[in-house]
Amino acid sequence: MNTFHHGYWTFFAARKQKHLGWFIFGSVLPDLVYYVMFIYLAIARNAWQVIDDPDPMRSLFGLVHDLFEHPVVFVLRQAGHSIFVWAIVFVIVIVWKGFRLTKGTALLYGWLGHIILDLLTHVEDAVPMFYPVSSYTFRSKVSYWDDEHYARVFSIINTTLILLSLLYLFIQKLRKKRPFTKSS
Ligand SMILES: [Zn+2]
Repeated sequence: MNTFHHGYWTFFAARKQKHLGWFIFGSVLPDLVYYVMFIYLAIARNAWQVIDDPDPMRSLFGLVHDLFEHPVVFVLRQAGHSIFVWAIVFVIVIVWKGFRLTKGTALLYGWLGHIILDLLTHVEDAVPMFYPVSSYTFRSKVSYWDDEHYARVFSIINTTLILLSLLYLFIQKLRKKRPFTKSS
């Protein structure tokens, strides 16, 4: 699932919880490496200077391709999307702080939500779910981006659900503002 949608759905699910910002931060964390490294590679290659570039789109595609091949991105992508790595961090935090909802556990729940949503929305680009101890890779039937695997249907359903959930939030807000008038 794309990073923005991860953030949105986590906001929706955890909106009544404490430490909402940490839930959302955890839910985008596994993908942050792409953005940081994209900017890094773009600067390293002087990719902003499109004026001298005969084919800037080609350079951009090359950049994105190399981004996912980059060893730092490769390792952090697999680690960030691994239930095994998540579980190790979870156990450390639980032993250290206990089960109560803290900034740390909120971040971990957001992160777990990201892993689960990605398990359900990646097919050919799925990553091993227990990296680095096992190469077993669960492939969903649905990809959020690949038209070969129902991306269009997924996008329609996801967008519809986002719009409906926004409508729901909007109606709730109106109701809170105008509570039923008390009979005198
Ligand atoms: Zn992801």
